[in-house]
Amino acid sequence: MFICKKKYDVIVVGAGHAGVEAALAAARMGCEVLLLTINADAIGQMSCNPAIGGLAKGHIVREIDALGGEMGINTDMTGIQFRMLNKKKGPAVWAPRAQCDKKAYQLRLKWVCERQPRLEVKQDQAIKILQENQIAYGVETSYGIQYNANTIIVTTGTFLKGLLHVGSNQSQGGRAGDIAAMSLSKSLQEIGLELGRLKTGTPPRLLRKSINFSKTEVQYGDNPPPFFSYWNKNLFHMEQAKMKFGCFDQEKLEQPLMRKLAQQLPCYITYTTDKTANLINCNLHKSPLYSGAITGIGPRYCPSIEDKIVRFSSKERHQIFLEPEGIETDEIYLNGLSTSLPYEVQIDLVQSLIGCENAEILRPAYAVEYDFVFPTQISASLETKICKNLFLAGQINGTSGYEEAAAQGLIAGINAARRVNNLDPIVLRRNQAYIGVLIDDLVTKGTSEPYRMFTSRAEFRLLLRQDNADMRLSQLGFEIGLLPLRNYNSFSIKERIIKEELNRLHLTYSNGNSLAKLLSRPNISYKELSGVNPTLNEENIEQIEIAIKYEGYINRQDTEVTRLKSLEDKNIPDGFDFYAINNLRLEARQKLSKISPKTIGQAARISGVSPSDISVLLVYLKKTNSARIQSHQ
Ligand SMILES: Cc1cc2nc3c(=O)[nH]c(=O)nc-3n(C[C@H](O)[C@H](O)[C@H](O)COP(=O)(O)OP(=O)(O)OC[C@H]3O[C@@H](n4cnc5c(N)ncnc54)[C@H](O)[C@@H]3O)c2cc1C
Repeated sequence: MFICKKKYDVIVVGAGHAGVEAALAAARMGCEVLLLTINADAIGQMSCNPAIGGLAKGHIVREIDALGGEMGINTDMTGIQFRMLNKKKGPAVWAPRAQCDKKAYQLRLKWVCERQPRLEVKQDQAIKILQENQIAYGVETSYGIQYNANTIIVTTGTFLKGLLHVGSNQSQGGRAGDIAAMSLSKSLQEIGLELGRLKTGTPPRLLRKSINFSKTEVQYGDNPPPFFSYWNKNLFHMEQAKMKFGCFDQEKLEQPLMRKLAQQLPCYITYTTDKTANLINCNLHKSPLYSGAITGIGPRYCPSIEDKIVRFSSKERHQIFLEPEGIETDEIYLNGLSTSLPYEVQIDLVQSLIGCENAEILRPAYAVEYDFVFPTQISASLETKICKNLFLAGQINGTSGYEEAAAQGLIAGINAARRVNNLDPIVLRRNQAYIGVLIDDLVTKGTSEPYRMFTSRAEFRLLLRQDNADMRLSQLGFEIGLLPLRNYNSFSIKERIIKEELNRLHLTYSNGNSLAKLLSRPNISYKELSGVNPTLNEENIEQIEIAIKYEGYINRQDTEVTRLKSLEDKNIPDGFDFYAINNLRLEARQKLSKISPKTIGQAARISGVSPSDISVLLVYLKKTNSARIQSHQ
């Protein structure tokens, strides 16, 4: 075994969406970071749909961006179509979504990692987590190298014992074209972590020239494009482009694709037919999902076409999107036709769609089964409870989706960096961020199927809007040393302008009504008020309109947050013995001991713990607390 002389602060295993955010965050916060990945050509690869955002996921990307993460910027730089979904509904559910160029997305992330100071990227596979007395200190790799570090973050996605299915054809793989990680699961189990099995699937990719688009509906992007990043003005003005790297002129490399294209690319919509449904019904026994060959549990909300046809048999047709995978490829992603049926059935299925009668499959659809770690074994900092300094992030924690993975990666990277500096972890609250909801759900309730974010999972949707992620999180991003000063300055200016204008609207009267009162009327927009501030941009105006028009609802949610705050703030001491409370039901004692909640609020969200259990717990804590105070007097 060759032992690398350098000791890192943080080792990140895996360079998917979680790994990249984790590594960049820790390095940007001053740590020496090693990013280990099986295939350096696949850093930040989009295993499935080349799209970022959408309902609730778009909110998460804005939060990552507000804190100083990379996903939003990378999407803006490599997007080829941008839309704001749900614009006809209330602002809580508006959701940005972008179609990206798959290769450009991945290459830019690789490039950002390679150029990040203090970050070393190495192609190698981690086969063992090294630990002593349940404290992680390094990893062993398949090249026989031992790397040591203060903290380890594991972000292995769908790769742990990955098994790919196309009909009855099975092969090992982390995803099509990539080898699986066959050894690391055993190492995690030896540490004492309990693993389960999940599955997910992806549709076929078609060749553009074989599709008759005239039979489909066109879907254009929004104009102007709703970009993701709060900081993209810098990107589009090429501030960074003035830097030169050796023989490379960065200006030539750092071109947003939208600038090169000068337009957005359209997507297309088509539909299944009766023939599609018949084909599925006749071939169901050949689907590994239905034959029992797949044992892992799949995502209910992102069903395969087999599931859709069986579960919604009364539905006449299903919508399928034809989405370009990039500008320098003719591959078309068939969004909505995920399947694990045999290849020959896939050909007929595809050709049963309107406009696809002669379509050619470039890559078949497949399903992947993989090991994951039951997430109740980690705390809200994303550190494992059983092994100190070992953090987990991304699909390994039972989630599905790039955005969910990136969000966890960012938090794990931040908290590993804070551990290195002996600082308390950052835990986002449920009323502060979707990222807080995501992690709290995972570590408190666990999951038995791939978890994805929905707006309905958040109690305080109106507070957690995609438009105000910077107002909620940028101060924190700056304070922890992640958000750069230039971005923080632009946020502070925006915050000040909005505050001043809101004050002015409340204090200025026209015909006996304050301007704020007038603006609160549904049919009046900011620009229709008298004496508007001409220097405000569209982003500021949107914030002002939402703040005033939804003031009543927002205040109500704020009041609810304050009401619950006393429970959220009531801490449960570390290592608290729930079995010592005789009056507590056995189920509650078991569940509470397993999860070890940090606050009464978290304890109350554990399934199987009732409000009366919480009352018993509160009384006990109060008693032991006053006994402790008395013994100290
Ligand atoms: C077939 C398929 C279908 C999917 N469908 C959807 C979908 O419909 N909707 C959706 O939202 N999401 C879908 N996803 C999920 C999405 O791709 C993941 O949620 C997301 O990529 C997870 O990010 P991650 O960073 O956790 O892991 P990944 O993106 O999987 O990255 C894992 C990284 O870890 C590396 N790695 C693994 N093991 C090791 C090791 N031992 N040593 C070193 N490096 C290692 C890999 O090389 C890779 O770089 C799908 C994924 C697949 C494979």
